Amino acid sequence: MNTNSTIRARRIADDIDALAGITEPDRPYTRRAFTPKFFEGRKWLEQAMRDAGAVTQIDAAGNLIGTIPGAHPDLGTIMLGSHSDTVPDGGRFDGIAGVIAALEVVRALRDQGTVLDHTLEVADFLAEEVSIFGVSCIGSRGMSGSRPPEWLQRVAGELTLEQAIADVGGHPLHSAERDDIKAFLELHIEQGPVLQNEKIDIGVVTAIAGITRIEIIVEGRADHAGTTPMGARKDALTTAAWIALGVEELAKALASGEAHFAATVGEFEMTPNAANVVPARVRMLIDARAERREDMERFVDELDNGVGAIASKTGVAVSAPRIVSDNLPTPGDADLLDVLDAACETAGASHRRMASGAGHDTAWMARITKAAMIFVPCVDGRSHAPDELATAEDIALGAAVLLDAVMALDTKLQEDI
Ligand SMILES: [Zn+2]
Repeated sequence: MNTNSTIRARRIADDIDALAGITEPDRPYTRRAFTPKFFEGRKWLEQAMRDAGAVTQIDAAGNLIGTIPGAHPDLGTIMLGSHSDTVPDGGRFDGIAGVIAALEVVRALRDQGTVLDHTLEVADFLAEEVSIFGVSCIGSRGMSGSRPPEWLQRVAGELTLEQAIADVGGHPLHSAERDDIKAFLELHIEQGPVLQNEKIDIGVVTAIAGITRIEIIVEGRADHAGTTPMGARKDALTTAAWIALGVEELAKALASGEAHFAATVGEFEMTPNAANVVPARVRMLIDARAERREDMERFVDELDNGVGAIASKTGVAVSAPRIVSDNLPTPGDADLLDVLDAACETAGASHRRMASGAGHDTAWMARITKAAMIFVPCVDGRSHAPDELATAEDIALGAAVLLDAVMALDTKLQEDI
């Protein structure tokens, strides 16, 4: 890292340790949105933002925001952020690293006596992970005006999402949509092994992969497992097995190119699932992720053809693949990617461009402003697990990149990049 930097790895390590201590005691590290531990974490974070000199508030969508007013606030806002909620039995870094790195940028600017022209904000987005309400990115969807109105009536036990957002301090019936944000940047752990394997400090994220979920139903016939001859069966499981292998083969072919592609048969239900019955029915749910839309379209087409071919070979009926949900890829803003590359050089960080296979708040923020993100390495690519690990030094180098990018943007945005 640039030796003049006012970014301090020690402060980052201390903050991450403090938040790690706020967890369900018997299952580290768990701080799910809307639970008492989440509120405790938020309270800690709010104080840390204030200690850094920020004015704090909860916006209408339930996001915690720390604001450092700019010298010329009419220029608009540069926002940094991520999320402080975790998955059950999650890690100490997913989301948290980005919030703490953003906070460290605020402290570093203060330490070097820099007041930006733009207002700088740090956001802790509400419920980025799939929450007790079964949906994700509640806060960033709210801030980008993309939260479906009917979501407020979702329930978890006795609680509606509307009440839960109010309990957090938000105003669920008011719009949280922003039009003053000129640029948004998020630091996140990679959640994969590429940076570690290639010994590269920073991933500059070209795109957040689009996610398409596809359901396939295989309709065989239940028969006696002992008496039905092998040639006279309509076994839904063996046909489904051919399909699962076909999905893997197709995905490997698409993943062999330049762009990121992955597909997984993530859900698989077989009925009747009994030892002495030939399987009658299988439902499979495929999760496919593509950096490039044309790869996803090719996957869906070839899956359709492949499934038809398997059905005629095995003689078991297979439904046409049904698209259950479909989100387009989100490219990083081209100007911001250039600014981030340059900031890596200034900070002395090695860097490469790469896609994100996971969804992030940035994908929603990109709907209302220039948005991009960077990855820092995480050990062995482990994430959504208690042994998730990123070093404070790696996060500090990422924070230094954010700091340089923010300072560059403070000027560049006035030149209308
Ligand atoms: Zn995350």
